[in-house]
Amino acid sequence: MPTYVYDFSEGNKGMKDLLGGKGANLAEMTNLGLPVPPGFTISTEACRAYLETGDEPDGLRDEISEHLTALEKERGKQLGQPADPLLVSVRSGAKFSMPGMMETVLNVGLNDESVHGLATQANDERFAWDSYRRLLQMFGKTVLDIDGEAFESALEEAKSRAGVANDVDLDADALRELVETFKQLVEQHSGRDFPQDPREQLDLAVRAVFESWNAPRAILYRRQERIPTDLGTAVNIVAMVFGNLGPDSGTGVAFTRDPASGAQGIYGDYLQNAQGEDVVAGIRNTVPLADLEGIDKQSYDQLLEIMEILENHYLDLCDIEFTIERGKLWMLQTRVGKRTAAAAFRIATQLIDQGLIDEDEALRRVDGAQLAQLMFPRFDSDAEKKRIATGMNASPGAAVGRAVFDSYTAIKWSRSGEKVILCRRETNPDDLGGMIAAQGILTSRGGKTSHAAVVARGMGKTCVCGADKLDIDTKQRQFTAPGGITVDEGDVISIDGTNGEVYLGEVPVVDSPVVRYFEREIEPDADELVAAVHRMMTLADDRRIMRVRANSDTPEDSARARRMGAEGVGLCRTEHMFLGERRKYIERLILADSDEEREDVLATLLPLQRDDFVGILEAMDGLPVTVRLLDPPLHEFLPDITELSVRVAVAEATGDAHEGDLRLLQAVHKLHEQNPMLGLRGVRLGLVVPGLFTMQVRAIAEAAATRIEAGGNPVPEVMIPLVGAVQELELIRDETVKVLASVRERTGVELKIPIGTMIELPRAALTAGRIAEAAEFFSFGTNDLTQTTWGFSRDDVEGAFFSAYLERGIFGVSPFESIDVEGVGELVRYATRAGRAARPDLKIGVCGEHGGDPESVHFFAEVGLDYVSCSPFRVPAARLEAGRAVV
Ligand code: PEP
Ligand code: MG
Repeated sequence: MPTYVYDFSEGNKGMKDLLGGKGANLAEMTNLGLPVPPGFTISTEACRAYLETGDEPDGLRDEISEHLTALEKERGKQLGQPADPLLVSVRSGAKFSMPGMMETVLNVGLNDESVHGLATQANDERFAWDSYRRLLQMFGKTVLDIDGEAFESALEEAKSRAGVANDVDLDADALRELVETFKQLVEQHSGRDFPQDPREQLDLAVRAVFESWNAPRAILYRRQERIPTDLGTAVNIVAMVFGNLGPDSGTGVAFTRDPASGAQGIYGDYLQNAQGEDVVAGIRNTVPLADLEGIDKQSYDQLLEIMEILENHYLDLCDIEFTIERGKLWMLQTRVGKRTAAAAFRIATQLIDQGLIDEDEALRRVDGAQLAQLMFPRFDSDAEKKRIATGMNASPGAAVGRAVFDSYTAIKWSRSGEKVILCRRETNPDDLGGMIAAQGILTSRGGKTSHAAVVARGMGKTCVCGADKLDIDTKQRQFTAPGGITVDEGDVISIDGTNGEVYLGEVPVVDSPVVRYFEREIEPDADELVAAVHRMMTLADDRRIMRVRANSDTPEDSARARRMGAEGVGLCRTEHMFLGERRKYIERLILADSDEEREDVLATLLPLQRDDFVGILEAMDGLPVTVRLLDPPLHEFLPDITELSVRVAVAEATGDAHEGDLRLLQAVHKLHEQNPMLGLRGVRLGLVVPGLFTMQVRAIAEAAATRIEAGGNPVPEVMIPLVGAVQELELIRDETVKVLASVRERTGVELKIPIGTMIELPRAALTAGRIAEAAEFFSFGTNDLTQTTWGFSRDDVEGAFFSAYLERGIFGVSPFESIDVEGVGELVRYATRAGRAARPDLKIGVCGEHGGDPESVHFFAEVGLDYVSCSPFRVPAARLEAGRAVV
């Protein structure tokens, strides 16, 4: 039979899995000889067993009895003993801190008799009755599931009857009466009496803490924080100490460093004559911790000493909860403290300088998600805000501007110097111009991989998507929000892509110095935070094996990516090069009747494409640029089928129909697909639209030749998308090789351009060994690979059922956001192994959205990929995470 209960002296800080964070750290402090009230911890294993069967596991009761007896012996009194009761707290404590999510019951052991004993021992009637009413209240709420409101309103009534405003002003008699009322409430609401047997109180409280693991708010919190659902919580039984026994008692919190900035000093708050929950409830104002020196110098000095011991022991910022009971200091909790992203970087470097940790350890103390947080502009947290809706935090940042409802207005207004927010129900490639022009994008539909979200992230542009409480009416140029709020075109709104909130009016924004540093606008020693970031980046770059490239399709983005540390372009999507003005050429290409006509269009497109590539190759001179041949279905470049049908019908009715429109409509019908994402796209396009891919390859080769002639060092690579079978790749590769040879011959410039493929279909991953025979490199397209492995449409799925999936724990985070290691990740592993077995020098990267997600980057580094490629803005976080993956 496993051991379920551990005395504080039996544990240590490494036992968080079993004892939870609080229990493990109480044990650690006990063993350091610090003043911790005695107690013991019931393990998470017991909780898991309880949650499985709905009953305490065999032996648990006896183990608790044994430890309780030992505790009673140590304190020299017994639980709930009438004359001088031992009281205990029953506190939850999971492996990961879940502040306020689970339950605690204090003062267990009080009953109608022992309350008198406590009054005598403490020499304080009021204190004893107040403690009893707190137990009734917490027990009623937590253990017996009674609505807390019932107790609150009884308390309010008691106060108004006594004519006082604060709980602390209720005297002993009033509290005695309140205890009677609370007991009645318990009986009325739960159908049972408040248990007078102290051991029964304890056992029921332990059960309640176990059960609180599955309380809805705890489930929600775990989902948000990505904490596994099956860990369970430990339960700590601790001898009560009281901070509310008079002016020489009190309670407080302390930090060994400022958790906001990382600066060393005396940080924390203290509240005299109070218990921990009073601090949380904000009943009275706390004083700064430094004031404790004047109140109780001895305890203050001891606390500072302990803080130093803890920092030197944990080698990190610690936060502490303590209580002073009649001049005696007790430590109730410590843990390595949460901190802001800025503090994490600063503390990591401070600790190296203090010689407390080495550089590798410092790198482990920060992460890519924190760095990403530091890079986005943000709203001033002190500013007043009027929130009107909340959507999904699709692309972080803080954007303010006038609401506009179409791309055209966005561009027009921004040209005249207006800042705008593009508001759409959802976006499509037509909105691109407006998205570029806007400060931010707000949609009422679609999830984190909707067009708006993906494109916005790619551009580093703030985006809130799927704010479904907003009714966006692009025709009326307005949207309405709950509460009768209407926002018209031109009204100023603010959107926060970091938390998904939408505000009315202008919220002031503060710039990120970290981005200015990466953009090389300010020096690495500009301020303490920037210096810390610079130092950690240097450590990461020195260590990482995996390279980081950027997804970029313009010279400007490529140049920015390079400033951010990108070591090439891993994905240059060419579809954006066929939009806007050039869309008409694609129309002509599709409608072409003869080879001649088709060749004519391609000849027009060739120099345009070439110039696109020249600019990018120049910006990335000396570094690889992987150009992907056209991928999306052709219909994306054609007019909407419904709109065109209506136009043609109207024209026909008025006798105004044009031959061109009719042919276009026919073509649109022909190309219309039910599932375009699974249709005529990628390599399939290259195989059925003659000349399209070869034109693109020619443009790449000629651009390279142009750059070489200009004295540059272009390193282009040709990438074929959506390959599922080696035969597809072979056909396109053979054509590509021919084109490269002909350009070489014509220009006389020696070109060595590798030809590779995307691995973005399960079949490609499963036949990677075969495919590698025809490919010089692989790039995992994890967006499509996720879509096709799960069978989820990346454009529709999040709004439709992801929230249900997240709620029910099918996955903790969208597989489009963070790589699904078990499924899609396994395909990546397999294809990498198979590909390298067939071709040992195969270069392998990833260019899906996951290439910029810190957790996924970590995974790709472990798998041994050569590089990840992500949007320019995510390059620094990917560099950092690639470094962290090897320490
Ligand atoms: C992918 O599928 O992961 C990819 C990078 O290609 P796209 O997102 O353009 O389909
Ligand atoms: Mg793809």
